[in-house]
This record gives sequence, structure tokens and C-alpha cells, in this order.
Amino acid sequence: MSEGRTHNAFFKGKKVLVTGAGKGIGRALVVRLWQLGAKPVAVTRSQRDLDSLKEELGASLSTVCVDLADWQATRLQLKEAVQGVHCLVNNAAVAQLEPFLKVSEEHFDQSFGVNVKAVVNVSQMVAEDMIGRGQSGAIVNVSSQASQRALADHAVYCSTKAALDALSKVMALELGKHKIRVNCVNPTVVLTAMGRLGWSDPVKAGPMLARIPVGRFAEEQDVVEAVLFLLNDSAAAMVHGCSLPVDGGFLVT
Ligand code: NAP
Repeated sequence: MSEGRTHNAFFKGKKVLVTGAGKGIGRALVVRLWQLGAKPVAVTRSQRDLDSLKEELGASLSTVCVDLADWQATRLQLKEAVQGVHCLVNNAAVAQLEPFLKVSEEHFDQSFGVNVKAVVNVSQMVAEDMIGRGQSGAIVNVSSQASQRALADHAVYCSTKAALDALSKVMALELGKHKIRVNCVNPTVVLTAMGRLGWSDPVKAGPMLARIPVGRFAEEQDVVEAVLFLLNDSAAAMVHGCSLPVDGGFLVT
């Protein structure tokens, strides 16, 4: 990457709002952005996670505690935080796994409420502010390989991520003229703390690993770096409306 295109040069001083910042990929992203000199705004629903992030990074970290499934509370709590945002990462999601025949109305509504509806809500707020200021920007939605492949017990999760891919394309279509780029990343299994627990059993991991040509699961940093690339308007100025697999080749098999 040439000097002008480095992440340090791009992210320094930039306000980047990250949802689902309490754990896993979102948290790792906030830490990396902080190291790059950006001004991340960490949004999640557990105050304890935000407190520990502030302990780790410093009291000046901006945080917002809100349940993104609540449309009105989100509008209220993020009203100030969305002002002046350069980049948005819609990362928060829930995964409630169950066989198709056991899918409940409650789980269906909860999953679509966080994984899709909240993305519409937060993105509208951020995009309206960007357009009002005549400010270009970038949005990355964290989707999944599950948007494009059937996985057992993932009927609702796969559906929410397929909806997110489609939503991202329409956002790209409509927001491009306002100089707001919109893209997705689509990771395979990511070894977050939770993922490590769930996928350390070789009996469970084996069949999934066998479908990943590079022969390993993703680490949080693999996803973080892909997100940073897509956000970076110097590096990815013409990348718009794409779903970028971070899957070691899972989707080519
Ligand atoms: P994670 O460790 O479960 O973290 C998700 C974060 O989102 C948590 O901080 C969680 O807060 C927050 N969150 C969930 N629902 C929320 C709500 N209603 N309001 C506000 N915050 C909420 O997840 P992850 O594994 O890092 O996944 C991050 C993203 O990557 C998700 O979009 C996921 O679908 C995607 N992804 C993950 C994998 C994987 O294997 N891990 C693979 C492909 C794609 P609480 O903990 O307080 O609920």
C-alpha cells in the first residue's frame, strides 16, 4: 500500500461507529481502530463490556449502550453518536441455531430484528447525517458465508444474512450518488472466544474444515483487516456493492 493509502494515514482522527463492539470481531475492530488513531464509537447492549473496553483503551473511548433490537431506543441513544461519523460497521448479530422444524416466531423476529432491521435503522441515521453534511463515507455490513450456503440448523441465521447481502446491494445502489460506499464481508467460522469453544471439538470442526481449501478457520484479525480495507476510501475507492468472502475459499467449493 503506498504511503497515502496506509490505514494510519486514512483512519487517523476518523469517527468510526461499530455495532456489536462488546465481544468478538466488533471488539477486535474497535481495538485496531484505536491503535490506528481513529475515534471509534463502540455500541453494544452490555454495559460491562463497554466498561472493560474503556479499561483496556482509555476513558476517552466513546461508547453507547443500547439494545439495537429496539428501534426507538436506538434512535434516541445514537442521536448524538451518529453525528460526524465517517465510517459505519454494522457488526452486531445474533445466531439462534435450531432445526428448521423447530424455528419459533420469537427467534425469527429477534434474529431479523438485530441482524437486518437494526442495520436499516442505524444506517439510515448515519447516512442521513453524512448526506446532510455533504460528507463522503463508507459502510461495511458484517454478513457471513451462511448468506450463500445452506448450513444445518441455520435456517433463520442464513436467511438474515442473505437479506443483509441484498440490503447492502440496494444501499450501494441508492447511496453511491451521495459518495457513500457500501460493502459486506462474508466470513467463514471465526475463532472468537465463543467460536474457539464451539469449534475446538475435532469431530464438529472436521467436516467444516474439510470444506475450506486453506484448511483453517478465520481469526478475528482476518475479518478486521478485510473490514479496514473496505472502509479505507483511499485503498478501496472503487469497491462498492460487493460481498467480500473472508472464508479461505469455502464459497468456491
Ligand atoms: P459475538 O462474539 O457474539 O459478539 C456480538 C456482539 O454483538 C456482542 O457484543 C453482542 O452483545 C452484540 N449484540 C448482539 N445483539 C445485540 C443487540 N440487540 N444490541 C446491541 N448489541 C448486540 O459475535 P461475533 O462472532 O464477533 O460476530 C460478529 C459478526 O460476525 C456478526 O454479524 C456475525 O453474524 C458475523 N459472523 C461471525 C462468525 C463467527 O464464526 N463468529 C462467522 C461469520 C460471520 P451481547 O454479548 O451483550 O449480546
